[in-house]
Amino acid sequence: MQIVITLIFIAAIIYSVWFLSTNKKVTVKNAVVAAEKDVSGILFYQRLNEDDKKRFLKEVNSFLQRIIITAINTSIADIDKIYVAISAVIPMFAFEGWEYPHLEEVLIYNDHFNMGFETEGNEDRNILGLVGTGVYKNKMLLSKPALQEGFNTNADKSNTAIHEFVHLIDGADGDTDGVPEILMDKKYVLPWMDLIHTEMEKMKDSHSDINPYGYTNKSEFFAVAAEYFFERPELFEDKHPELYKMMQQIFKTK
Ligand SMILES: [Zn+2]
Repeated sequence: MQIVITLIFIAAIIYSVWFLSTNKKVTVKNAVVAAEKDVSGILFYQRLNEDDKKRFLKEVNSFLQRIIITAINTSIADIDKIYVAISAVIPMFAFEGWEYPHLEEVLIYNDHFNMGFETEGNEDRNILGLVGTGVYKNKMLLSKPALQEGFNTNADKSNTAIHEFVHLIDGADGDTDGVPEILMDKKYVLPWMDLIHTEMEKMKDSHSDINPYGYTNKSEFFAVAAEYFFERPELFEDKHPELYKMMQQIFKTK
């Protein structure tokens, strides 16, 4: 009798492991596959050579295979998921095969949210996206309208999803401090910090066209400057030549 109970018990464990693992496989993969038409309108993509264009699409699809993208109390279209993947690939494109090591899931909210992740009511709902901590560890949270706006409006200098992925890159060395040490040669760290300081001073006196939110701290400065750098590279080079050169160096876009 005891043998029968033991066998049933073992069978139950095997079944549970099998059930969990097969279900996990279903959730991990996004059914969506990005095609050329989905990325052809993206300026960053348009500026790549033919081989890199192929690799870009491959990296976008690899991201979609690895990272869960979940809609929270809203619906999302395939293109929204593709936008998330594009935003992840752009800043790390020069670092072939690099994956966001701690990211597991991206949560998409129906609107801007507050610190309590509420998307209704007017109280302090000014968050467009953030990198989760605590129970939201390994997750990124994005507002759907902010995600879409980053791609629908080409003429601005902002892209919320790129901003959040740049925070992840910045924090990959253990410190989200505006100095992405995993990308930077040590000799550039001090000049980079000096340059951030100078540029933030210009913001204080309103002598800068960089999003004033960058004045919050060095990490926010790096994230908003990166949005501008990837969204409007020519204007950024024209207005901030020194910063442009340094960011080319950081993101190896040259
Ligand atoms: Zn930020």
